[in-house]
Amino acid sequence: MAAAAPVTQNEFGWTPDQPLIRLVDVHKSFGSLQVLRGVSLDVRKGEVICIIGPSGSGKSTLIRCINALVPIDSGTIRVEGQEVNDPDLDKLALRRKVGMVFQQYNLFPHRTALQNVMMAPINVLKQNRKEVEVRARALMAKVRLQGKEDAYPGQLSGGQQQRVAIARSLAMRPDVMLFDEVTAALDPETVKEVLVTIRELAEEGMTCILVTHEMGFAREVADHVYFTDKGLIVEHGPPAEFFANPKDERTKAFLGQVL
Ligand code: ADP
Ligand code: MG
Repeated sequence: MAAAAPVTQNEFGWTPDQPLIRLVDVHKSFGSLQVLRGVSLDVRKGEVICIIGPSGSGKSTLIRCINALVPIDSGTIRVEGQEVNDPDLDKLALRRKVGMVFQQYNLFPHRTALQNVMMAPINVLKQNRKEVEVRARALMAKVRLQGKEDAYPGQLSGGQQQRVAIARSLAMRPDVMLFDEVTAALDPETVKEVLVTIRELAEEGMTCILVTHEMGFAREVADHVYFTDKGLIVEHGPPAEFFANPKDERTKAFLGQVL
């Protein structure tokens, strides 16, 4: 009988059968304002989780903590076993693993779409320009922007720019993608094309954490939905159950407003 393949550990003792991201009792305040008041959640490899909740409930802070854009006060966050709150953390290495796309896509306006996608692998990772370009072109095709490689951001719609931003993030070959209300600033007609791109990523097995107000999308694509209110996860579950049968009064009130 063949021996089972050895489970490979990374340098933090993490193995792929453990949660890729684990938050335990995370607290964060800005001054006297308690924004996260004890948040715990796990995300496994290949999972798509959606975080929904009222404005100001701490959603953006929560996902910004995961790639160390915001330092936490207490609790732990681990990404592939690595403690994000470790003072010796190599933030650059973490952010290579954890891609993030924001509501504001912040493309460089004087660079073409293709150049925007190529920039970080060349400047940060010092990769070979020719190879980076081949991959960047493939990523442009992947986000369905073949033919727009030489366009400047100002010549693209909001939805197209957001897809360039997604391709730019994918160029770093992340293990997980964080999306913070990436469709919130878009015209309704371009929201869908961005959601299609994210859905395709999810279907390919990319681990995704999405903060979104697109309930239909959350229902269809998420493996698990979390509802936050005032810095706490008040309810979570698989989408079918979560949307059909919310239990917490705050979830019911929120869904009543948005659905
Ligand atoms: P959400 O994304 O759910 O709307 P946020 O995480 O952006 O919520 O914000 C939660 C609360 O924290 C809000 O009251 C916001 O004003 C406050 N906040 C967020 N970032 C900062 C910051 N850098 N400094 C001070 N307050 C902040
Ligand atoms: Mg937010």
